[in-house]
Amino acid sequence: MKIATESVSQKYGNVPVLHDISFTADAGEVVALLGPNGSGKSTLIKTIADILPPASGKILIDGTDASALDPIDRAKLIGYVPQYFHYTPFTTVLDTVLIGRRPYMSWSVTDDDLAVVDNSLATMHVTDLAGRFVNELSGGQRQRVFIARTLAQQPAFYLFDEPTSSLDLRHQLETVATMQKIVHEEKSCMIIALHDLNLALRYTDKVVMLKDGRTYACGTPEEVLTEDAVRDVYGVCAEIVENSHGRFILSYAPSDV
Ligand code: ADP
Repeated sequence: MKIATESVSQKYGNVPVLHDISFTADAGEVVALLGPNGSGKSTLIKTIADILPPASGKILIDGTDASALDPIDRAKLIGYVPQYFHYTPFTTVLDTVLIGRRPYMSWSVTDDDLAVVDNSLATMHVTDLAGRFVNELSGGQRQRVFIARTLAQQPAFYLFDEPTSSLDLRHQLETVATMQKIVHEEKSCMIIALHDLNLALRYTDKVVMLKDGRTYACGTPEEVLTEDAVRDVYGVCAEIVENSHGRFILSYAPSDV
């Protein structure tokens, strides 16, 4: 399945924040949304997740307008990991991840639901935390639990809003690498807002670079992430080098210093 934005614009009140955004995320693709603070990444992800219906334009799932979807079907298709989590204190990690199964449940939790939950906990390395309360975890542990909840949802589309912001280096790399593997294997699709351009270069298939709510560039990470683009969009001089591991950013410096 694929998901596309067709000339999507968005406003808060009368203030326009996204202008005419069009791109497609195909099955088996990880698409990075890049851009500095305030460029519109979160708003675009919320718009695709239908938390904020577009002010104009459409979100299309396999060519069909997503706004016409039944809410249960939408919950099965779209798994959203927000930047900030709302959680109920004194709920266990197991019960939190089980919420991901809700769109599939009738009256009771089945063995299949529990097997999917166990698998999701293991994938995010949080099995040991299953009996703990979510409010008693570190920010990074909680972030991994909420990603596990979304994995348990088994959606066709993963929408992740800076999911690695609280994670230490190892868990950042593991999370993005694991998600890329899942997306490639399942032929699902992920749209992920990222700050770390090296994660985008290494683990994504397509990049949509936003500047002031507009598409600055869209293409493969190698096409989009050039020294010129990083300077124009982020105001940063980047030194991009290439070796046998691929292309990566060696250093940054503010462009006005
Ligand atoms: P990013 O995720 O790239 O940092 P956002 O989507 O959060 O960007 O913000 C895009 C623009 O929308 C910014 O100018 C921001 O101030 C504005 N904005 C974000 N959320 C709200 C809101 N709830 N109400 C009004 N303006 C908002």
